[in-house]
Formats: sequence, structure tokens, C-alpha cells
Amino acid sequence: MPQIHPLIAVTSTTEVLRNLPRVRVNQLYTDALQRAGMIPVVVPTLDPGLADALLQRVDGVVFTGGEDVDAHLYGQTPHPTAEAPNLARDRWEIALAHAAHDRHIPTLAICRGVQVINIALGGSLIQDIASREPAFLTHTRSDDRAHRVHDLSIDPDTRLARAIAAPHITINSSHHQSVDTIGAGLHVVARSSDGVVEGVESNGDDWWMLGVQWHPEELVQTPEPWDRDLFDAFSAAVRASTALALSRPPSNP
Ligand code: MN
Repeated sequence: MPQIHPLIAVTSTTEVLRNLPRVRVNQLYTDALQRAGMIPVVVPTLDPGLADALLQRVDGVVFTGGEDVDAHLYGQTPHPTAEAPNLARDRWEIALAHAAHDRHIPTLAICRGVQVINIALGGSLIQDIASREPAFLTHTRSDDRAHRVHDLSIDPDTRLARAIAAPHITINSSHHQSVDTIGAGLHVVARSSDGVVEGVESNGDDWWMLGVQWHPEELVQTPEPWDRDLFDAFSAAVRASTALALSRPPSNP
């Protein structure tokens, strides 16, 4: 059997650099995917009507981090701390989340990514963790993204627990928002000690979806194996799903 290198769609943002809008994604995402044996394909913000067509051609999808999702999309008024919205990206990624859900495309959602999927499935966010509960841990440690700054507990018998063979780990934290009410067909699988949601999964086995609030792609070079294990688990899920699709008889012409 030839080695299969699954194609993984990777979402991106738009940044104006030298007066022109550029498609941008942190290269640590694509490096981490390549390390785990996958071929990342960076996808720009597109017409939401193209989401299903894209996911017919790839084996998995990664929803990356980025700007706050427009709170209007989950029925709230944006908090004063909200970043400038990128509504085109929000709408594209919400369509992509629906398409991934409907097609059962293996999905890894990171930081903003898990928030987008939660919103697409009817959930909401804590718009600013520090405003909601000042006693919570400091989750806005963007100054120290390469380091493990707070704790995390993982529920047993979850995809995350099977991926990371440790019930308690420490992680980086570069977010001021988090999942609040949970979307349809999702459940919480990890929290920090203050109760902030740090991991979310899809219910059941039809759709492999794992979302994390931290940035595992920025920790794959650390001595601890947990974040490498997370990408390897995603890779295994994608390969299993692709092998399943390849073993299906072709549809009749
Ligand atoms: Mn955190």
C-alpha cells in the first residue's frame, strides 16, 4: 500500500500588509500537520456556498485561531473588548462547520476554531472571561504562547483522553473568550481549574470533531508529547475516514 498523505483544508484570515489584503495563517499550524504526515492546504475566506464543494475534495479540516467572532452571530451585542469583526471569515467558517458536520469530515478546531463550530451549532461564547469572572485564571497569555501557563483536566472516555494519555496537563493560553452555552450535538471534554471550557467534542462516532481552546500547534516542539499526540490522533482519524471512503464501491454512473 502506498503511503497516504491526507489533504487537510486549513482556514486562514486576511491581513492588510504593504497596502494589500493577504491570506494569512500562522505557519506553526501547517508545520504541525506536516509533521503528523498530512498535507495542509491553506484555504482563503471564500463564498460560503463553496464550503461543501471544498470538503468533497479534502480528507479533513482544521479551523484555526484568529479574531473574535461577531457576537451578533450568536444573538448578543459585542462586548467593549471585542476585536474588529471579520464577518466574511465568520460566515465562511460557519458554512464550513455545517458542511463538515453534515459530511462527517474529520475536524480539528483550535481556539477561535472551536468557538466558530460551537456558534455554528447554536452555542454561545463568554465574550470576555476576565469581565465575566475576575477570579478566573489569566487566559490572555499571548506574550508567552510557547509555554504551558495553566492547568487542564480531561474527562475520561473522550477523544481527547484517548489522544492524550494524561488526565491533567498544562497548556498555553492565548484567548479572552471561551465556549459558554454548548451547541447541539457537542459536549465539553476539558476544563481548566476555574471551570473555563478548554475542550469540546461532537457526540457519537459519526463525526470525528475535536476542538481545543489552547494552541497545540505552538507546543509540538516541547518535551511533553501531549500536543504531538493530539495531531497524531487527528491524523489517525483522517486516515481511518479516508480508508473507509476508499473502500466504498464507486457509485453507479
Ligand atoms: Mn486558557
